[in-house]
Amino acid sequence: MNAGRPLLAANWKMNPIDPGDAADLVRAVAAKAAEHPEVDVAIFPPFPWLLGVHELLENTQIGLGGQDCYWEESGAYTGAVSAAMLAQMCGWVIVGHSERRLHFGETDDTVAKKTAAALAAGLTVIVCVGETLLEHENHETEAVIERQVRGGLAECSADDARRLVLAYEPVWAIGTGRSAEPEHAYKTMRLIRNTVGGLIGQGAARLIRVLYGGSTNAGNVESYVELPLCDGCLVGGASLKADEFGRMIEVTAEVYSKTAARS
Ligand code: PEP
Repeated sequence: MNAGRPLLAANWKMNPIDPGDAADLVRAVAAKAAEHPEVDVAIFPPFPWLLGVHELLENTQIGLGGQDCYWEESGAYTGAVSAAMLAQMCGWVIVGHSERRLHFGETDDTVAKKTAAALAAGLTVIVCVGETLLEHENHETEAVIERQVRGGLAECSADDARRLVLAYEPVWAIGTGRSAEPEHAYKTMRLIRNTVGGLIGQGAARLIRVLYGGSTNAGNVESYVELPLCDGCLVGGASLKADEFGRMIEVTAEVYSKTAARS
């Protein structure tokens, strides 16, 4: 794990359907997070639940974010939510998630525009990158990751580094129960940092946070957060289970306390 603060980001995707369930989940996560203030936690609910979750998170250290945003500030863009709107109640946003790339036509160019708009609005941005199964099997991981990092950060500068988070999420590991080998995750996270270094400077490459995401849970989170260069995890399915996600916070705190003691 990096010397910086660890981060667990909870991507709820299009869940839960019931706002009462969302409220129960937030309360449980907030209680566990309060026991481990050394771990940063951010929650990314569906848009309709943002306001309710925002109210429940008042007086907590937990971050709140949107799962996507649009780059224009306002106007005739039916169905879109701008980064500027999110910034009214959120500090965070995810862009470039593989499900947005797959189902909603997200490209490296739109990721770049969203990233730039979100940074300009004052948000911290989690930019997701990751290769598909076919690309993985064809040994194209490095080329894909470099292209996505360079494309998604095309409008960024070194000044943005403190509010930039890169999430390495191999598409074949998301929601499949097949998490990446820690060694593969480590090599790819190192490539991400090096690519950011070449793009906006070595200082920035040290300052950004890099996460792993893809079928993480309480049983395997340690093997990622203990990796050098890894700052935490972007968590999908397991973040919907209060006990499981709570245990992930505990494990991350344990790993962090050992790492901090060593450094
Ligand atoms: C994700 O959607 O970002 C994700 C990592 O999902 P899961 O943890 O369910 O694989």
